[in-house]
Amino acid sequence: MQYAYPETFDLKFKLQKEPKSIGVMMVGWGGNNGTTFTASLLANQGNITWEDPRGGTKAPNWLGSLTQCSTAYLGIGGDGKEVYIPWNGLVPLVDVNKIKVGGWDISKMNMADATARAHVLDIDLQRKLRPLMEPMVPLPSVYDPKFVASNQNDRANNVLKGSKSENLEKIIYDIVEFRKNENLDLVIVVWTANTERCCEIMPGIHDTAENLFKAIYEDHPEISPSTLFAIAAIKAQCPFINGSPQNTLVPGCIDFAEKNGIFVAGDDFKSGQTKLKSVLVDFLVGAGLKPMSIMSYNHLGNNDGKNLSAPEQFRSKEVKLLMKPYQSLYFIGLDLGDSKRAMDEYISEIMLGGHNTIVIHNVCEDSLLATPLILDLVVLTEFFGRLRIGSTSKTASHLHSALSILGYFLKAPVGMPGAPVVNALAKQRSALENLLRACVGLGPVNHMHLEHRVQ
Ligand code: NAD
Repeated sequence: MQYAYPETFDLKFKLQKEPKSIGVMMVGWGGNNGTTFTASLLANQGNITWEDPRGGTKAPNWLGSLTQCSTAYLGIGGDGKEVYIPWNGLVPLVDVNKIKVGGWDISKMNMADATARAHVLDIDLQRKLRPLMEPMVPLPSVYDPKFVASNQNDRANNVLKGSKSENLEKIIYDIVEFRKNENLDLVIVVWTANTERCCEIMPGIHDTAENLFKAIYEDHPEISPSTLFAIAAIKAQCPFINGSPQNTLVPGCIDFAEKNGIFVAGDDFKSGQTKLKSVLVDFLVGAGLKPMSIMSYNHLGNNDGKNLSAPEQFRSKEVKLLMKPYQSLYFIGLDLGDSKRAMDEYISEIMLGGHNTIVIHNVCEDSLLATPLILDLVVLTEFFGRLRIGSTSKTASHLHSALSILGYFLKAPVGMPGAPVVNALAKQRSALENLLRACVGLGPVNHMHLEHRVQ
C-alpha cells in the first residue's frame, strides 16, 4: 500500500512594481493582425473617434482584453457581496498608452495602405489613422518559399538577402536599433506572419541550442524563418511569442531561451472557435458526458485563409487543432474577407445510448478577436518578467522560460518539458487570476464560500 503525505511549502512572491517601457515588434506587421493591432493601439492612445456607418460616433476600446476590460475576484465586502477589481487595478501592469510598435513584413506596403488592404476597420477610422500609419513601413524580412505557401510570392517584395546567419544578425540589429531609437527597456517580438509548414525536427539540428546555432551558421534548409526570429529575439534579450501553429519553438530554441532566462510563448493565438471549443469540451467532460466527435468547418477569405489553403500550411493548423482523436477539421476558402465563419458540431453520447448534438455557428472579424489577445500576451509577458517566486527572497526565480501561464491565449500551449498541458479555458483563466492575486498576498479563489453555507 502506498500513502500520499501532504507537504507544506512557504513561497515568497517578489514583484518589481515599476513596469518597464515596452515596444512590440511584429513579424508579419503588414498583415491583418499586424495592421489591426497597430491601428487599435494608435486609436486608443490618441482617443481617435470615428463615424459609425450605422449611425453615431464610435470611440476606441479594448473589448476582449483580460488586462484592460476584465475583472478579478477580490473577496467578500462588509455587506456580504462579492467585490471585483479590474486586472490592471489589482497589480501594476504596463500603461498600454505608452506601448510602441514596429516590425517586419515581406510586403513593403506602408501600414495605412496595408490597413486598407485588410478590410477590417471602418473607413472613417482608416482615414483618421492614415497620417499616423502612412510613415510606418515594415522592415524587410526573411522569406523562405519552402515554408509559407507559394501563393504568398506575389506580395514578397521586401525580402532580406544573404545567408541564415546574416539574416539572424540583421534581425538582432533591427531589434537593438528599435529599442534604442524608441528609448525602451524591453522589446517583445510577436510572430503574426503567415503559418509556415512545420519544420522536420532532426536530431543534431534542432535538439540543443548549440546544434541549432551550428545549423544556422551552416545554412541548414530545415531552419524556418520563424525559428530564426525566435533565436534573434532571445539573443537580443527579448521575449518571443509565436501566434501561428507551426513548430517554431523547437527544443533547441527552448533550450536557448532557458539558458538566457528569456520567455518564449506559443503556439497559435486562441481567438474564437478554439476558445469556445476549450470551454465546451470542458463542460461536456465535466458534466459526465462522452464527446464522440467534433466536426469543425472554417470559412475564411482573408490572406491567412489563402495561405492556409495550401496543404502543408493547413497541416500545421490541423496538427495543432486536432489534439483529441474525436476531432476533424475542414477548411473552405470563401471570399468573406476577415469575417470568419466557423461551424462546429459536437456529438456526445448521453445515457443509455442516446446522443446529444450541439451546433455552433460563429461569425466574427478574426483580427478584432486576435488583437486584444495580442495586447494581453504582451502586457502579461512584461508583467511576469518582473515576478520572482521561491522559498526565500534570495532564491526566488522567474517562471520557466516556456511561459505556459499564458496558455489562456494560445491554442497549443508550450510549457516546461514534461509538464502536463492544460487546454480548458476556465482552468487557464483561474491559474492566471490566482497568480495575480498571489502577487498581492491573496490566496487562491476556491469558490467554496463556506461563509454562506455553514450555519
Ligand atoms: P495575414 O496573412 O493577413 O498576415 C500575415 C502577414 O505576414 C502578411 O502581411 C505577409 O506578407 C507576412 N509574412 C509572411 N511571411 C513572412 C515572413 N517570413 N516574414 C515577415 N512577414 C511575413 O494573416 P493574419 O490574419 O494577420 O494572421 C497572422 C497569423 O496569425 C496566421 O498564421 C494565422 O493563422 C495566425 N492566427 C490568427 C488568428 C486570428 O484570429 N486572426 C488566430 C490564430 C492564429
